[in-house]
Amino acid sequence: MSKTFFIDTTRCTACRGCQVACKEWQGFEGNQTKQVGWGSHQNPPDLNPKNYKVVRFSEQKLKDRVAWNFFPDQCRHCVDPSCKYPADEYKKGLVILDEETGAVIYTDACRDMPKDVFQQMLDFCPYNIPRRDEKTGVINKCDMCVERVKEGLVPMCVKACPTGTMNFGEREDMIDLAKKRLGIVKKEFPEAQIIDEEAVRVLYLVAYKPETYFKTAAAKPGTFDVTRKEALAKMGQSFRNFFRV
Ligand code: SF4
Ligand code: SF4
Repeated sequence: MSKTFFIDTTRCTACRGCQVACKEWQGFEGNQTKQVGWGSHQNPPDLNPKNYKVVRFSEQKLKDRVAWNFFPDQCRHCVDPSCKYPADEYKKGLVILDEETGAVIYTDACRDMPKDVFQQMLDFCPYNIPRRDEKTGVINKCDMCVERVKEGLVPMCVKACPTGTMNFGEREDMIDLAKKRLGIVKKEFPEAQIIDEEAVRVLYLVAYKPETYFKTAAAKPGTFDVTRKEALAKMGQSFRNFFRV
């Protein structure tokens, strides 16, 4: 049975323990960041090759209250990962869907991928996740800490979370837990929902509409409606353009 994260954002305090633990486990150095001038305590401003995870901050003025919505953003390990289509079309085996865990993994060989193919991977991702280090060519994102998971451990972000926001386990168990929490949270927050439940292996429970957390908290409209055939047709056109230059 595949694994799944359950991220209960109603419990998140934005301590960023998950974000830091991820960086430490991956051995990533700190980013040069700027706290002042863009009106947010979020840091860094976006995902980047040294941050597989970013806790997004969004201050919202709602009808009867002000809400500070926190959203630990990361790869959703999609059930049918659309970022894999262009990669496979270019060369099979660069992006792997691990059968045992369901993790979507970018291999080191992705670094040789042409710019156009990477751009297609990014365009096809409903959540704007993959990032590339322009100096080294490395393409990366969350790998589910798959080496830990295969040893029976949980991903580092889950291990570090002190509030119960980050959960990880068998898919059925996480779906059950998410639904149980949704039932409780809905009593106070009628708009509460689990985002894109069927399509992803990272289930987010949010108290308000997903777009009040971040613009791609939920999948871009229509992205899961693109059939594989349509996707390949689009890519074929683009590859032809690419190889003409
Ligand atoms: S969230 Fe994006 S990068 Fe992650 S598996 Fe899905 S399509 Fe690929
Ligand atoms: S460690 Fe937990 S509480 Fe802290 S920011 Fe991450 S998900 Fe939120």
